This record gives sequence, structure tokens and C-alpha cells, in this order.
Amino acid sequence: MIAPGARRIAPGAMLGVLGGGQLGRMFAMAGHRLGYRVAVLDPDPDCPAAGVANIHIRAALDDAKAWDALAGECAAMTIETESVPAEALRYFGARMPIAPGERALYIAQDRRREKHFLSTNGFATAPYREIEAPSDIEAHGVDALLPGLLKASRFGYDGKGQHTVRSRRELVDAAQQLGGPGVLEQRVDLAAELSVIVARSADGRTAVHPVPLNRHVAGILDLSVVPAQLPQDIRSRAVAESLRLATLLDYCGVLCVEFFLTTEGALLVNEIAPRPHNSGHFTLDACHTSQFEQQVRTLAGLPLGDPGLVMPQQGVAMVNLLGQLWADGEPCWNEALSNPNVRLHLYGKSTPRPGRKMGHLTCMADSVTDAQVLASRIRAASQPAAIS
Ligand code: AMP
Repeated sequence: MIAPGARRIAPGAMLGVLGGGQLGRMFAMAGHRLGYRVAVLDPDPDCPAAGVANIHIRAALDDAKAWDALAGECAAMTIETESVPAEALRYFGARMPIAPGERALYIAQDRRREKHFLSTNGFATAPYREIEAPSDIEAHGVDALLPGLLKASRFGYDGKGQHTVRSRRELVDAAQQLGGPGVLEQRVDLAAELSVIVARSADGRTAVHPVPLNRHVAGILDLSVVPAQLPQDIRSRAVAESLRLATLLDYCGVLCVEFFLTTEGALLVNEIAPRPHNSGHFTLDACHTSQFEQQVRTLAGLPLGDPGLVMPQQGVAMVNLLGQLWADGEPCWNEALSNPNVRLHLYGKSTPRPGRKMGHLTCMADSVTDAQVLASRIRAASQPAAIS
């Protein structure tokens, strides 16, 4: 594998990204800002990154012919989704610098491998058991994990492929619905959720963004606030665990580690994402260097940027704008656009669906509480029904 950093890739070169969702779009925008061109692979002609990339190859992420075409154009390759087959990174890694590496993707894209990796390396997780066959459900110890969540091993995100199960009966039904391997996780009592976004260069340098406190609604991230109002030792432990994880993976690129803080005070790793993460979107407006710019820098072998807040004394809140906000037509952005403390980001998606991430708002105020109140108010005011 060719590691980024072995050779610095100069602006003007073409950077490739596998996947053209909003994360690919924001990667492309960050790449352009530093003078790079960007090529994207995604089957959807209207994918969010298509509108901004220099080249859009319309093909499936596992289309080997499309990999050849992309390899002919690009100087380095990254990803924006775990749905990319790990073989794709093996292919590109033999030809050009890649970030992240194949191993990190291979582990992070499958919950069973991820949990196994975490537990064998001494990271605390929610108690779990792999469920592959009906006999696993009959096995001793399953009852101790109920009530729990049965999560699909692959392709689950934003709460998709997840079933709440309270009894063996429900577990059997859920496993049938899943139709493939999964992980049964005990439902833990959450005091808080937080995430750590680490940028790590090929030579092992790291930069960590301020830790956001996250709130999920129906399994989907709703709100991230910074600074996280959590004891400093919790934040420090989360950062230390994330750096240990990045080192163990010999990680290059941007890595997000999501944590649960339980009501009993335990800090558990929920999952890892080998890419920028929704909970790091505040970095676009609030930090000296965004998570997407760090992705560009780690890929191109450039020095890492300063991850810190531009206005450390301020509070920041990021709220997602989901498809349901479009239920009665295009939202009204007047308030969002006229308030100097609010930044509106729209991903250029033409088909809103409930739960689909269409954009986000980042709000700044004198305190985290004020920023959160502002974000909720502006989002509510954007609803078409709110206009009278
Ligand atoms: P995931 O896709 O696994 O990150 O789950 C989405 C969200 O569901 C999490 O951010 C939590 O809010 C909730 N959740 C997932 N697993 C658990 C669990 N074991 N116990 C309690 N809440 C959970």
C-alpha cells in the first residue's frame, strides 16, 4: 500500500472519493478550496457530490471497470461511506496513496468485526453477542442482553437495520427481518453521547477537534453542541481512547469514534467511522480547519491544520435538516439566511424523504445553551407551516 505522505500531492492534482453523498460533496468543496480537482464515483446521477466534482463517474462502488477509469484520473483516493468494498481500497492502494487504509475500512464496515476488534483490544462496549444463526438466539446468555437492539452487521446507518427487542420472541422476528448476520446489543442507559474526530497523518501526527455532545432522535443524529458540557476527564478519556484506536489501526485520514456515556459513568465505544462524520459538521464554520479539510490534507500529505475553535469562548450548535422539513414544500430560509450567527448548509438533494439528511444549520452564540436554543428556533422557523 502506498501511504499518503510518502510524496506530497501538489494542488492541481485530482483527488478521488468513493461515494458521492453529502460527505463526498463537502470533501470536494474542501479540496477545491486548496486548489485540487476532485473525481467522484457514485451510481446516482443526482448525487450531492455530482454538482461540485470535476469528474463524476456514474457506476456502482464495486464496479471494477469504473475503478480503472478512476485510477486513470486520480493521484490519491479516499472514501465517504463504509459501503465501499474493502477490495476497492486494496485496488487503489496498490496504485496511489489512499486514506483510510483497507484494514480500517474492513473492520469499521462490519459491526461484528468492529465489536471483535474493540473488545479484543480492551475498549469497553455495550455488552453484545453476534447473531448469525437461530442457534445463537437459543444460546445461553442472550436473555441478559434483553431489552436490546439487534443491529445488522452491514449497511446499517442512521438507525437503519436496527430493531429494538424485548423478548426472545421479538428477537426471533427481528432476526428474520434482518435476513443476515447481526449483533445483539444490550440497551444501555445513556447519560450522554459524544464523539471524537481525529485527523491522523501517515507519519502518525494527530489533530483532534473539540469534542461534541450529540443528541439522537429515532437513531438519527439531531444535534451536536460544542463545547460538550461534560466533565473534562470524560472528554480526555474519550480523546485518549480514540487516539489509541487510531494508532492501533495505523490510521491515516479522518476517523470518528462515537461514545456512549452511561448513567453509571461508563464510557463505551459505540462505533467507529473511517471518514468525516455528521457530528463534525460544526467544524466547517466553527474551527480553523474543518474535518473535510483535514481529510484533504491527510490524503495529500499536507501538514494537519489547527482543529481548534475560532471563537473558543462561544457555544456552537449544529442541527440536522431532515426531509420531513420539506413535507409542505421548500422550507423558508429567510431567518437562517438573515441571522449573522447562523450558517445554512444544503446538500443539493432534490428528493426529500423523512429521515433523509438534506442539510444542516450551524449556530453560534455566547453559550452552548443559547446556541442550541437559536438552532432549534431557526429550524422551526424554516418550516413552511411556520410562515403565517
Ligand atoms: P448506531 O447506529 O449504532 O450508532 O445507533 C444509533 C443510535 O441509537 C445511537 O446513537 C444511540 O442513540 C441509540 N443506540 C444504539 N445502540 C444503543 C444501545 N446499545 N443502548 C442504548 N442506545 C443505543
